[in-house]
Amino acid sequence: MFDLRDLYQQVIVDHNKHPRNFRAMQDATHKAEGFNPLCGDRLTLYLKVGADGRIEDASFEGSGCAISTASASLMTEQLKGRTVDEAERLFGRFHDMVTGAPDAPPADAELGKLAVLGGVREFPSRIKCATLCWHALHAALEGQQSVSTE
Ligand code: ZN
Repeated sequence: MFDLRDLYQQVIVDHNKHPRNFRAMQDATHKAEGFNPLCGDRLTLYLKVGADGRIEDASFEGSGCAISTASASLMTEQLKGRTVDEAERLFGRFHDMVTGAPDAPPADAELGKLAVLGGVREFPSRIKCATLCWHALHAALEGQQSVSTE
């Protein structure tokens, strides 16, 4: 039988082994560091936001567990071309997905590939791993230099 979880697992493994947008950005307009002391995940998020409020580029560096790395990789892929407002709204949707009840309805279409991380809601200790990059995104957009999940 086709198992969606296996597919999701494969996507996470792939993004952890080969993270997308894993690099520093010299001409970033926004930057913030995120730290998740519970797991030891650390990352620096870089954004390049154009004059029209659109995210032209997003990248990250750091070290962390498979979930935090895959989440940041998937997030940076999804951010490019979105406005800052759209990015913040996506954070809300993502947060709702990973903190929802295990039997909550599946993620909505706007989340796209980010839905592969929906399974972490069954593992509460990993939720902060999955949301760390999003907290860093929010901090960067708010002009903060660092954020901790604790
Ligand atoms: Zn972690």
